[in-house]
Amino acid sequence: MKPILIVGPCAAESREQLLATARALHPSTLDSRLSTLDYIFRAGIWKPRTSPATFQGVGEQALDWLVEVKRETGMEVATEVATPEHVHAALQAGIDYLWIGARTSANPMAVQSIADSLHDRQPKKVFIKNPVNNDPQLWLGNIARLEATGVTVAAIHRGCAHRPCWDMAYAVRTARPDIPMLLDPSHMTGDSQLVATAMNRVGELGLNGAMIEVHCCPEQALSDARQQITPDQLRDILASAFLPFSKGIDHLPLHWLRAMIDEVDADIWTHIERRMALVEQIGEYKKSEHMAPLQPERFEAILHQRLEWADMHHIQYDTVRMIMNALHQEALRRQS
Ligand code: PEP
Ligand code: MN
Repeated sequence: MKPILIVGPCAAESREQLLATARALHPSTLDSRLSTLDYIFRAGIWKPRTSPATFQGVGEQALDWLVEVKRETGMEVATEVATPEHVHAALQAGIDYLWIGARTSANPMAVQSIADSLHDRQPKKVFIKNPVNNDPQLWLGNIARLEATGVTVAAIHRGCAHRPCWDMAYAVRTARPDIPMLLDPSHMTGDSQLVATAMNRVGELGLNGAMIEVHCCPEQALSDARQQITPDQLRDILASAFLPFSKGIDHLPLHWLRAMIDEVDADIWTHIERRMALVEQIGEYKKSEHMAPLQPERFEAILHQRLEWADMHHIQYDTVRMIMNALHQEALRRQS
């Protein structure tokens, strides 16, 4: 499978922004090895955002800008579609690739209506992101809906709520090893500082490429400003991540399992942080009511219940006692 790298801004904001970003990303400017990959320029023009108060994309006018990028740089171009009208307009304009975003991917009827609109005319490929909810069967179902039209499909793992969902990605990778799976480290982390590290997973897990948000001036971006990187930062990432792209390493189950362990540990840390924030709120209350931080009967009651959970979850009593004592120590320190 030829590796795929899709780069470009979260959204097309103006003709100037789009052309400036595309020129900076051209293989002759950035890295000549890019011409050996399927190297595609992206920009969203219809943005399915959470809040109507935020930037919704500039709409159809940006199709002309994307076509201009294609004409001027020779790069193939991709945009996101959420409705049959988007599909029609994008294909009519000459957009090469389409992708379906995570919010649309959560709605099988929306995906079916997009699939239905692909019967007459098709792009070179449709990329389908994982749904925002952790549901591998829904993702696989969406792939099947699209494939039924005869179009070529690839998957993009972008995680859920700025964290990975490696178990969902692994389920789809295992069920469909025949289709490419790309990583979207931008939406998976939500943080430009974390994109480079996340990109190591492409090689480790034997993925087939990546979709990365790159903006000529990320600090001025109208959407996803925190996660977009500069063309120079992309060049640095490619300096270390290019080899996995060009090699197409077989996937190693051990690496997938370790990625899942890392994700679970990150979740445990998040939960501990949340627990300690509650502990501190309770600490304030105890102070205002002149209560001592240590309330032995409350700790005994908690421990008793957590030991019952130990049975339910097949964890040894000693382990549960150790975990609860450690959490309690940290809690008392924060309340004293
Ligand atoms: C995007 O790629 O700009 C986008 C909106 O992504 P997602 O659907 O993953 O949120
Ligand atoms: Mn985005």
